[in-house]
Amino acid sequence: MSGWLGRSVRRGILTTRYPTDPATDEEVPATARAPVLPAGGLPSDRAMAACPVRAIDADGVDPGRCIRCARCLAHGFEFAGPVEAATPTRRPAGNPGTARASGRAPLAALGRSLHVFLVDVGSCNACNLEVLSLAHPQYDASRLGIFFTNSPRHADVLVVVGVPTTEMVEPLRRAFEAMPAPKAVVATGACAIGGGVFAGGVGLLESVDRIVPVDRFVPGCPPPPVEILDALLQLTGRGRAEAGR
Ligand code: SF4
Ligand code: SF4
Repeated sequence: MSGWLGRSVRRGILTTRYPTDPATDEEVPATARAPVLPAGGLPSDRAMAACPVRAIDADGVDPGRCIRCARCLAHGFEFAGPVEAATPTRRPAGNPGTARASGRAPLAALGRSLHVFLVDVGSCNACNLEVLSLAHPQYDASRLGIFFTNSPRHADVLVVVGVPTTEMVEPLRRAFEAMPAPKAVVATGACAIGGGVFAGGVGLLESVDRIVPVDRFVPGCPPPPVEILDALLQLTGRGRAEAGR
């Protein structure tokens, strides 16, 4: 909060200009980015053993699993990676073994307006807060045509947070089926992508995409709001990459 106030005073604006202003990348703190090894480095066995969520393997860090706990920093990793963009596959190119994607086209037919229905299938509430902060003055998603709705029947995008509990499988499926086409699903946070810190727990599914087809995966624990915003904008072709950044 104090960082936001300081930036607002310095730049003379209250609401972020994301995604058009490159300076807004500073709103994603280094510790919210997946750690990387310096060029040429390889993950050691000790680094793999230190990771509490098995996010490190011989290929590097799986950003979808990483909870940004920083334990691997003692084993050569650094929080110096790029801002993690939402991806249409479970894991970025280069690690195709676990890649899964809905294969659906972006919601171009919806033009510049999206209505979002938020479903919590078993979160600790932090991802919830980050998603809902998009309606606050700092992000003000309505300036970009993004609004929250209280019914899946009025929604274009289902934003799902939390690790899916068996009790939430049917409600989530019903919410998805109630949405009119075209529609999209955004799995938000490590729990929704791969179970996060709860992976392997009793009565939990591995990930949201085992229940409904996912169009964007937003890594983080929790993800920074601008990354959630970028995922929503990507669906209508207005994300950071589409803005030339
Ligand atoms: S920051 Fe934590 S969760 Fe992420 S790769 Fe490093 S040890 Fe694993
Ligand atoms: S991803 Fe992290 S912040 Fe989000 S619900 Fe899971 S534990 Fe909480």
